[in-house]
Formats: sequence, C-alpha cells, structure tokens
Amino acid sequence: MQRLMLLIIVFFIILFFLYLPELFPSCACCGKKKPRPFFRIHRAVSLSPGYKGCRSVCTRCCRKHDLNDLKDLDRLSQISRKVKIRRLSDDF
Ligand SMILES: [Zn+2]
Repeated sequence: MQRLMLLIIVFFIILFFLYLPELFPSCACCGKKKPRPFFRIHRAVSLSPGYKGCRSVCTRCCRKHDLNDLKDLDRLSQISRKVKIRRLSDDF
C-alpha cells in the first residue's frame, strides 16, 4: 500500500514538471518566469515538452515593445540582431 502511494506521488511530481511551462511560462523577450496570468501571448510552437514547446511573451514586454503577435516578436529579434551586427561593424 505504501509503495502505491509513493508511485502516485511520483506520478504527480512528473505531471507537475510537465505542466510547469503551462503554469509558469518563461518570457521569450525578457527571459523571466512568471505565472500564466501575466502573459499575453502563449502559444505552442512544437510538440516537444517543456519550455522549448511553447513561446510566450509577458504583458510587460508586450506593452514595452508594442507586441501583439509572435510575428512581432520575430521582427523585434531580427531588428535587434541587425542593430547588434551594425554596432559590431562600426567598431572595426
Ligand atoms: Zn517579458
């Protein structure tokens, strides 16, 4: 009987870790982990479990960078990459 209880507890721990990215997604913009209600964008992008499977942007980053969609996030990351490359080439 005790062994069964242990099995159930282990099962719930695994379940908890599987659903952790759903409950506490990590922001793709600022990298912080926050509870789900603080996120405006939360979408599954692949079937892989964990934090790799979904992309989320918190409400603060959405407001800060004026993001409405994951497309906006991609554009933002592209722009910031371009700026970085330009800054690096200016140094030479
Ligand atoms: Zn954020």
